[in-house]
This record gives sequence, C-alpha cells and structure tokens, in this order.
Amino acid sequence: MERFPHDRIQLPRNMIENSMFEEEPDVVDLAKESCLHPLEPDEVEYEPRSSRLLVRGLGEHEMDEDEEDYESSAKLLGMSFMNRSAGLRNSAAGYRQSSDGSCSVPSTRTMVVCAAVLVIAVAVIMVIYLLPKCTFTKEGCHKNRTMELIYPLATNGKIFPWAKIRLPSYVVPLHYDLVLQPNLTTKEFAGSVRITVNVIQVTWNIILHSSGLNITKITLSSAGRSQTKAVEFLEYRMHDQIAIVAPDALLVGQNYILSIDYSSNLSDTYYGFYKVSYKDEHTKKRWLAATQFEPLAARSAFPCFDEPAFKATFLIKIRRDEQYTALSNMPKNVTIPVAAGIVQDEFSVSLKMSTYLVAFIVANLTTTRRETNRTWVSIYAVPQKLSQVEYALDTAVKLLEFYQKYFHIDYPLQKLDLVAIPDFQAGAMENWGLITFRETTLLYDNRTSSTMDKNLITAVIAHELAHQWFGNLVTMEWWNDLWLNEGFATFMEYFAMEETFPELHADEEFLKLRFKTMMKDSLNASHPISSAVQSSKQIEEMFDMLSYVKGASLLLMLKKYIEHDTFQAGIQNYLHNHSYGSTRSDDLWDSMNKVTNGTLDVKRLMKTWILQKGFPLVTIRRKGKTLFIHQERFLRSPESENWTSDASYLWHIPLSYKTSNCSSLFCPYSYLLDQKSATIELQEEVKWVKFNVDMDGYYIVHYAEDGWETLIDQLKRDPTALSAKDRAHLINSIFTLVGVGKVSLLKAFNLLDYIVKENEAAPITQALFQLSVIYGLIEKRGMQDLAARVVGRVEKLLGSKIDQQTWTDNGTLSERELRSTVLAFACSYHLGKCNTTATKLFEDWKASNGTKSLPTDVMKTVFTTGAKSNDGWEFLLSMYTSSVSEAEKYKMLEALASTEDVRKLIWLMQTSLEGDFIRSQELSHIIATVSQSLPGHLLAWDFVKENWENLIQKFHVGSYTIQNIVTVSTSQFSTEAHLVEVKTFFESKSEKSSELRCVREAIETIQLNIKWMMTNLKMLQQWL
Ligand SMILES: [Zn+2]
Repeated sequence: MERFPHDRIQLPRNMIENSMFEEEPDVVDLAKESCLHPLEPDEVEYEPRSSRLLVRGLGEHEMDEDEEDYESSAKLLGMSFMNRSAGLRNSAAGYRQSSDGSCSVPSTRTMVVCAAVLVIAVAVIMVIYLLPKCTFTKEGCHKNRTMELIYPLATNGKIFPWAKIRLPSYVVPLHYDLVLQPNLTTKEFAGSVRITVNVIQVTWNIILHSSGLNITKITLSSAGRSQTKAVEFLEYRMHDQIAIVAPDALLVGQNYILSIDYSSNLSDTYYGFYKVSYKDEHTKKRWLAATQFEPLAARSAFPCFDEPAFKATFLIKIRRDEQYTALSNMPKNVTIPVAAGIVQDEFSVSLKMSTYLVAFIVANLTTTRRETNRTWVSIYAVPQKLSQVEYALDTAVKLLEFYQKYFHIDYPLQKLDLVAIPDFQAGAMENWGLITFRETTLLYDNRTSSTMDKNLITAVIAHELAHQWFGNLVTMEWWNDLWLNEGFATFMEYFAMEETFPELHADEEFLKLRFKTMMKDSLNASHPISSAVQSSKQIEEMFDMLSYVKGASLLLMLKKYIEHDTFQAGIQNYLHNHSYGSTRSDDLWDSMNKVTNGTLDVKRLMKTWILQKGFPLVTIRRKGKTLFIHQERFLRSPESENWTSDASYLWHIPLSYKTSNCSSLFCPYSYLLDQKSATIELQEEVKWVKFNVDMDGYYIVHYAEDGWETLIDQLKRDPTALSAKDRAHLINSIFTLVGVGKVSLLKAFNLLDYIVKENEAAPITQALFQLSVIYGLIEKRGMQDLAARVVGRVEKLLGSKIDQQTWTDNGTLSERELRSTVLAFACSYHLGKCNTTATKLFEDWKASNGTKSLPTDVMKTVFTTGAKSNDGWEFLLSMYTSSVSEAEKYKMLEALASTEDVRKLIWLMQTSLEGDFIRSQELSHIIATVSQSLPGHLLAWDFVKENWENLIQKFHVGSYTIQNIVTVSTSQFSTEAHLVEVKTFFESKSEKSSELRCVREAIETIQLNIKWMMTNLKMLQQWL
C-alpha cells in the first residue's frame, strides 16, 4: 500500500491475551456449563481458591515452561476427560448425555471405578483448597499467582473455543469460491463463499474471520462428497472471529468444504467493500463499489482466514446490474445472465495469494490498454477523465518491463489493471492484478499537472508494481515484518525510477524522506522496524514512515555496501526461493548470505538495524592522519528512557567517507564499524573529511573539535567539491545536532551562509525547510518581529535566486522543481516581487474565467496568492467545483486552505469531514495546510479535538491518516500550556486513542520544541 503521499505497557507474552479482555471480560464458569466443548488437557487450569476451572487456549508449540507446569497440574488433577482428540472423545462418550437428553446407565464396575476416582479427586481438591492461593506445578505451590481466564464467550453466551487474536494453524484454507452481489441502489451486498480447507490436526472447530457480516447459513461437507450438513457456529466479535462447530471430528489430511451464506452493507468508510459516489459528465450523482482490504478488512467482505500467511486460490464471481462492469484480480472468463437485468461475471482462478490482496470493483469505468510480454496493462478511470490516463499507461508498461528484467521473474498474470478511484484513503493499493489508486496518484493532465505531480504518479506506480513481486508473490508471514513488503517496495520505487526515468531525480525525493524519517526515528516513541504486533491498532500503526522509508534506507545502505550486482543476485535468490510463499526478515538475509558466500554475514549486520529502534550518532575526531570514531544511540529526546539500555545499543555500521584529497579509485572509502569505537589511519594529511557519502547510510555524523569548521570553509570556498546530496546532508545534520546541543545555532547559520553560491534543488530545499521550521515555531509564539528577521535572513541569502526565477514551465525537471519550491516560499513570506507577479497571473486567469493556461509548476503559488482576497477565494471555490482535473483541484484546495479567514477555514475542514462537497480523502491535507498559518494552527487543533471520535471512526484509529492528522495539528506547539493541553486531551480519550504511538510522538515533539526555544531563543534574538 502507498501511504497518502505524503500503551498499553508491554505485557509478558502470556498476559497479552488477558489484556484483550479489558472491555467487560466475559467470565466463564464452567461449573454452570452443561455442555462443554471438547478441550485438550493442556488447556485446563485449576484455581483452588474459587474452585473454578479456568481454560487456557494454547496453540501448539506455544507453551512456555510455566505453561507446561500448568499442564502437569491439570494432569495431576485427572482432568484428561476434556479432550479434543477423537479417541479420547469416544472413550469419554459414556459420561455424556445421550441424544434424547436422558443419562445412559453405566455398568456397576464403571460406577465403582468412578466412585473411587471421585473420592480421590475430592480429597485432592480439599487439600488444595485449604492451601494458600497457589498453582500446582512440578516445583509445587506457586503463591499469589494471578490466574488467567482465557476463553471468551460468544455472542450467544456459549464458550467461544479460541482465545487468541491469531487464528489456529490446525485448519488451513486451500481455495475459495466466492459469489458476491452488490446492489448499488440499496447499498447492500449478498455473498456466499465455499472454502476448501485442509485439516492439519484433528479438531472439531474451524476458526476463521468474519466482521460485520450477517451470516444466515453454514454447511460443512467432506470434499468429494455431496452430503452437506448444516452446522452450528459461534461468533466472537472482539476478535472478528467465528467458530464452526463440526458434528464429527475433522480428520488429519482430509479436505472439507465450508459453505457460508451472508449479507452486509457496503461500508461508509474507506475500508472493506465500500461505496463511493461521484458526479458523471452530466453532473449526475453515480455510485461505484470498490475494495480496500489491507490490512484487516477482507473479513468484512467475506468470511475468510484473514492472515497474510494463509494463502489460497480464489474463484470470484460477481453478480451485477447489466449497466455496470466488474473487475477483479484475474481476467474475466465468462458472463452469464442470472436474472432479469442481472448478469454474473466469472473470473479465472487466481494464483495462490493472501486475502488482503483480493479485490473487486463494480462501476461504470472506461479504459485504455496495451499489451506487453503477454500481459494486458489497462488504466481505468471515470469516463470524463479518460484523457488523463495516457501517462500512467506508458509509465506502467515501462516499469513492468523493467521489473521483469531486474527480478528475472515474469509478471505471472495475463492482465494488470490500474484503476483511479474517485474517493480513496491511501495513496494506492497493490491488489494483485487490480491496483487501485487515488485519482491524483494515477491521472496526469497535460494542462494542469506539474512536474511534481508527474514525479508523484511515477513513484506511486513504481511502488505498486514492485509490490507485485515484493508482497504479492512473496509475502511477509505476519504484520510484524511489514517492512519486508513496504520497505522493499519503497526502495524499488526509487531505484526503478532512477533507472527508468533518470530525469525525474527520484533520489532527491528519497533523500528528503530519509531526513524526515530519521527525525521520527530519533524519538523515544520510535520502534524497531520489525516489532511484535497483535491487535488491529498495532497492525495499523505499522503502516508508518519507519516501515516504508527506514526499511528502504536500510536496503539502500546494504546495496551500497555489498555492491549492486551482489544485492540484485540476493534479491533474485530470495524471490525465486519463496515465490507463492511467506517469509520473515531472516529469509531475506539468508538469501543474501548465499550470494556473499561467507565474505560478509549480512544477517548479523542487518539484525542490528531491524531489531533496534533508532540509529547511531557517529562522532569523528581527527588528529593528524588519525580518525577517532565513536558510535552511540542518537536520541533527540530531553531524557532517555533508560541510560543503561541506551549504552547497550550497538550497530554494525558500514561507514563511507571521502576526504579533500579524494582522487584515488578507492574513494569514497568504506569501513565497517562493529564496535563502539575504532580508529582509521588516513594515508595522508587532509583538509576535511565527510562521512556518510551522499547520505546513503542510515546514521548521523558529528564532526568534533574543528571538524565542522573545515567543512564550512570548503562549502564557502567551493561547494562543488561535495555533491549536492552531501551538501543537503550537511545542512540537515548541523541543524539536527543543534537540537541536541552538540553544535551551536550560530555555527549552523554560519554554514548556511554558503547557500548564496548554491544552485541545486536538494540543498536549497533543505535550507528552506530548516528555516521555515524555525520561523513556524517563533511565529506561533506570537514573536512576529523576530519571525520577520528570520525571513530577512532568507532574503539576504536567496534574494537573487528568487529574482532569477521565471514564471514558466521551461527548463529541466530539476530547475522546474527548484522554481516551484523557491517561488512558493517567496510568495508565502512576501519576498521580492513574488506576490505582485502571482496576483497579476491570478487576475488574468480569473478574467478569462479559468480558461487561460497557467504554468503548472507555479499554479499552486498563483492560486494561493489569489485566494488571499475574498473575491479570489470565492472564484477559486467555484472553479474547484467544476474542474475535472484532480491535479488542479488539489492545488486549488491547498490554496483555499491557505487563507487566514477563520470562518472559511472552519467551513473547509467541516465540509471535508462530511465528505460530500469536498471529499474526506482530502481532510488530512486540509488540516496540514490550515495548521501552517498563525490563525489556522489553533483552529486545526480545536477541530481535531472536537471531531476526534468522528475522525477515528472514518479513518480508523492507528491508520496513517490519523497519524498524520495528530502530527500536523500539534507539531508547532512549544509551550508548557499546550503540552498539558495535548496530554490532557488524549488522556481523556479511550485507551485506544491515548496509547497511539503518534500521540506519544506528538507529546515528545512539543517537549523538544520547548527545549529548543529555551536553548536558542535568546541567541536568535541577539544575533538576528
Ligand atoms: Zn506499499
């Protein structure tokens, strides 16, 4: 999935399940249960004090030592009568009620034996009861142990025979036959699914996922037999699970067919099988139905084993009104009439795949397509936007060809559809063979799309196509390793773009994202990219910058270190070995290690990066020809969680560096730092040394003593001695180090003085970013004079650069991007003649009633300037309503949200939340833009507070959209009062909200802002 472009205290493992019962635990008193489900002996515990049986739901291979102890105590008490295995169940039959409800009469011998057993059991129980509260284990009595109640109650009050969030692995799905009939008039759908399952371990229960489905009938039969039996099922909503209770034991190795009929409503959110409205070319309201299943919503469209490792094949049939078309992952095989006006499309049987990749759409869409290497690539859009699909088609074909060559594996399907959905929460979703996009990430309009829009579209297509291999062909086993999907797709996105579209300079965009991600990763609230996750909130939270960009950055660092050919061979190895399977991080490192042939242990190296959160700060001290190097954890937070644990952090860092005398073939040099400290001997005296060349490594470098001065001297003398990426990196590093007190702000500004000689986009963009962060903090504290002096500083440094810009679309893409950034900055801070020119362009455009073309790269700046007047804003809003270009509308919306008129800002946010006039998919972007201005930032925060419940209902708690909304609405606060307010607000919310990682990040960021202001404000006031 493409993000939108743009605590619980850790419990010991065996307590985690209990914590799921925080919402009204259902107490199970087995003594009152007349009809028990068959249970295994290792699932039974005894709590003497209350004489109540407690039942533990253990999966195989998951018992720890304590749990084995419980098993012994259960056996000690002779509780093996509860057994799920067939043999034992049969032998226990004598104790169960007969079918007519009366008790069968046992023989005298049986009665004598039973009486003896009973006496012994009562004696043992009484002894135990008189002991202090304890649990019996091999070692004897364990006092004061909290006994755990594990099995929950189903909706009908019976015991639900499974307690874990993860499904058991003793029944696995092989194949799904799915028939769906969405009704776009009633906004409901009916479905029936036949799932062929294979039994791995004898059982009576089949546990699978279902969420919000109204199940009307379930039958079960042996595969190959026509006889079916209606079966009982239980539902446990907290885990989205249903349990099918089989009348007879399900036998090992056998296949069974589970048939389920159900119905539900098309979802109002962006998740599951959801409905979308849009206006057609005659402005008539139309509906379509589409899916978004990743990560956990396939279960809300059909009952299924909704975990990525449960791969199966799918035969999908969609019943629809004749007027619509239907699409799914596979090509359509046949269409047959099934009722008056209703037809059924049957699609080919899919390859083996995970449920979250299943997709279907019922809509009125038009398409254009092209064949490449026996695959038909099609772009779909609503009819009035068909003219905007050509760029996507060219790009998709080119990238598909690139990936097939690079991976040495053909794309395995005969078709690949890329569909622009009019309302879509994420950026795009990689469903196998049926990729869904936002309109802005797929449709390119020559008249209104800018060079940045082109970059975005290319990047998102490259990302989703990479997923057809990384994610779809080879899938992470569980969401803890989401980075395997997302990190790889992000890495491949930039790599494929550099190889296929070098003119787009994708590496610069990737660099910007690395800067942003490292800011986040240097907070205490960060997490290792491979982290244990269980609950739906935790899984949603994995879709963050770290899984995507840190994952990609680590792969970039590895690729640079082991050389490209080795890296590519490792990837090919990995994909070939695990096609149609599921993997963990170690599988990737093992594949790489096969290629490095013992010369480097990739697994040992990479584990230090994926299992530890954060990244290292490498400090360099130069004495003559000797470099003294030291690594420690880099943390921006005022206080570490724990200094001793910080000290234990150690990374294996593939350092790269170059020097002022970098002329040899071996430059840049590399050195693997796998200790806390080391020394490097240079061959000769040098003027300066720069580490982390082009910032290809995921670490920050501090040059102690006069290290920074030597680099600053070089930048001022001749910046081109260092690459543009190195220059951007130095700017980023020095301002980051100011934040932790390693470098003074004065020194950072001193470095920035070189920028008058700068011509490249990457360093200028980085300089503007750092200055606008400082400006934002000062302005939001109401220090307008000081803020104006910061802007004055920018004007002094970049004034001539601003004046040089033309208001056209001429030049290389890099020049165009620079123009776009510099002019946007200049106009928003009223520098030079920017506003005068922009206002004139806007007035001309307005006078032509929007028919006059504007240069696309400065269009947003022109709109933003125009929207400052009431007339301009109203005119822009009317044009927003009638435009058919999403690229244009996006720029208009940003301009509308840049106004300082608070009534208009409130209206925009509210209207977007309602989702009719302005789509809800735009809301996080609107809030981000509103937060930028002085009047807007408090409004945005108020809006988030007032509408929090609505927001998490619409976008899902933990989702990337929610993370983004929390970050943008709080990141500019820098006072104790705001810190308390943000804390208090989230504390007043449910645990689900208050324990979000993004909330902890927001609080930490405000603390950092407070600290930054305390340290640097005085100096800034004196110096500027
Ligand atoms: Zn993705």
